[in-house]
Amino acid sequence: MTTSTEALVPRLREICGAGNVITDPLELRTYECDGLTSHRSVPALAVLPGAAAEVASVVAACAAAGVPFVARGSGTGLSGGALPREDGVLIVMSRMRSVIEIDPVSRRAVVEPGVTNLSVSKAAAPFGLFYAPDPSSQVVCSVGGNVAENSGGAHCLKHGFTVHHVTGLQIVTPAGELTWLGDGTGVSSGYDLVGAFTGSEGTLGIVTKIVVKLMPLPEVVHTLLAAYATTAEGGRAVSDIIAAGIVPAAIEMMDALSIEAAEAAVHCNYPAGAGAVLIVELDGPASEVEAELSVVRAICEAAGATEIRAADDPAQRAVIWAGRKSAFAAVGRISPSFIVQDGVVPRTSLGAVLGRIASLSSEAGIRVANVFHAGDGNLHPLVLYDDSVPGQEAAAEEVSGRILDACLEAGGSITGEHGVGVDKSRYMPKMFTSADLDTMQLVRCAFDPANLCNPGKIFPTPRLCGEVPGRRRAPHPAVAAGQAEIF
Ligand SMILES: Cc1cc2nc3c(=O)[nH]c(=O)nc-3n(C[C@H](O)[C@H](O)[C@H](O)COP(=O)(O)OP(=O)(O)OC[C@H]3O[C@@H](n4cnc5c(N)ncnc54)[C@H](O)[C@@H]3O)c2cc1C
Repeated sequence: MTTSTEALVPRLREICGAGNVITDPLELRTYECDGLTSHRSVPALAVLPGAAAEVASVVAACAAAGVPFVARGSGTGLSGGALPREDGVLIVMSRMRSVIEIDPVSRRAVVEPGVTNLSVSKAAAPFGLFYAPDPSSQVVCSVGGNVAENSGGAHCLKHGFTVHHVTGLQIVTPAGELTWLGDGTGVSSGYDLVGAFTGSEGTLGIVTKIVVKLMPLPEVVHTLLAAYATTAEGGRAVSDIIAAGIVPAAIEMMDALSIEAAEAAVHCNYPAGAGAVLIVELDGPASEVEAELSVVRAICEAAGATEIRAADDPAQRAVIWAGRKSAFAAVGRISPSFIVQDGVVPRTSLGAVLGRIASLSSEAGIRVANVFHAGDGNLHPLVLYDDSVPGQEAAAEEVSGRILDACLEAGGSITGEHGVGVDKSRYMPKMFTSADLDTMQLVRCAFDPANLCNPGKIFPTPRLCGEVPGRRRAPHPAVAAGQAEIF
């Protein structure tokens, strides 16, 4: 513990209660990483506030002492976003986990940030409503973490990402003030600060309450599994479904290696010998779904499906989904270690980029399993390696990075939903110009001029706010164009 963090302990105990301030080095190791275990760092201390006012007081104490702080939800993030600072305070939101209010008339819920994603839908179900964003980690991950990462999920193709479902945020600013962004209606005028905050990866403040939209539970849900010899054939079915004007709730694809892993883990009994399986889910009014189902089935057949299974009751649908939902963890059955990559490509480039991934894999002798949100081009290549074999981890890292290059070359992105965090900050200059990055820094500086709120994440080069304009040899392009001034 540093002198500054040690000096904070009495004040933090006063705010949160002694039992909610963790200083024991062994206990603190619980928080040394998130779901990305290749980055580890033990926080100087951790606090578990129980209310928004406590979060505000904790942040104000950190700000006054000049101590950096990092928010943590459930720690399932896959980009090291919640990686603690050794010289800082980790603010763990897991005690703040209630669904405060469900309003079935305005179809809104107000929740605390530590509540798990699935709990919101469970609380809304008696009113015939659900919370649409559904990361595969939804049993565990927190809505606060979802807001910070702008999380997606299998059903975001039709229903949208977290940002499309958040209408108001109570936040603690990095100076320790409690305030609201958005009025909860989702139609407020002025700058869209809720939009700016959503996806900011814990760098603009800490969320303490969230107003989310709830949607009516669909009248019917039909799930269809189509098996193909190759991912290219499955990819053709995806393009043809969208081209037919149908937007399914979900279109997911798994390749042969990820099917093998899922089979080993959950015995999902997907069609034997399939080179790829496509899962298409349709939801909505019965008449609409029935009509779309026959079109989707015909498209899947025309693209070369070797077998098609359909399910419309929850138990049968769960059987189809079991393999897909287990896919990340299942890969542990066929490889001692693996990297979960997250990149995006235009849907039309899916086939070409999957081909490029196959070449990278065979050139490096590193296996890559592909499981992905095919409908929105969000790839999750799982790069497999054995860390007991010298050089394999580095080779896997190399393949993983070159997959992102392939996504960028295809006009895509270095992340679809897992965020930049600490892991991908080095790739940001490949996607953005330095002027782009400076402009993003100006937004961060507007919220956090002292750079204490989750510092060292997203941006490749640590900067103090004053340095953005001050140390440039040439003026910032916006200043040169007379569109901005330095303040
Ligand atoms: C098996 C598995 C499957 C996954 N599937 C998906 C998927 O389908 N889609 C998807 O998008 N992601 C997925 N993820 C990634 C992860 O679950 C999401 O990023 C999730 O939103 C993280 O939530 P969390 O509560 O665990 O946040 P954490 O990991 O604790 O934190 C994530 C980020 O949020 C910040 N943060 C947390 N709470 C707050 C707060 N209250 N205020 C401000 N900032 C905060 C942290 O500082 C950090 O930057 C998956 C992860 C795993 C392990």
